[in-house]
Amino acid sequence: MSEPKKEKYFKPVEEMSPQEKVWIIHRSCIEKKSFKLEAVNKVIDKLMEQGTIMYYYHCPLCSSYHLTKNPPYFIDFQVA
Ligand SMILES: [Zn+2]
Repeated sequence: MSEPKKEKYFKPVEEMSPQEKVWIIHRSCIEKKSFKLEAVNKVIDKLMEQGTIMYYYHCPLCSSYHLTKNPPYFIDFQVA
């Protein structure tokens, strides 16, 4: 039985090797700002007022929220 192909799908954190985790942490947790949920909603609202559409996602590695230009399904770690 073959798994259906999942494009732009990130592995669940539990299945990542330490190296992959380091890469993800570097990409999302260090390069991006981390927000609490309340704060990220305010930022999103501000950006929308300025005409910029941004999304946020919950990061399972640092337990905070990061902003992204990609729609959430591109980076949602929980996608089944
Ligand atoms: Zn993070």
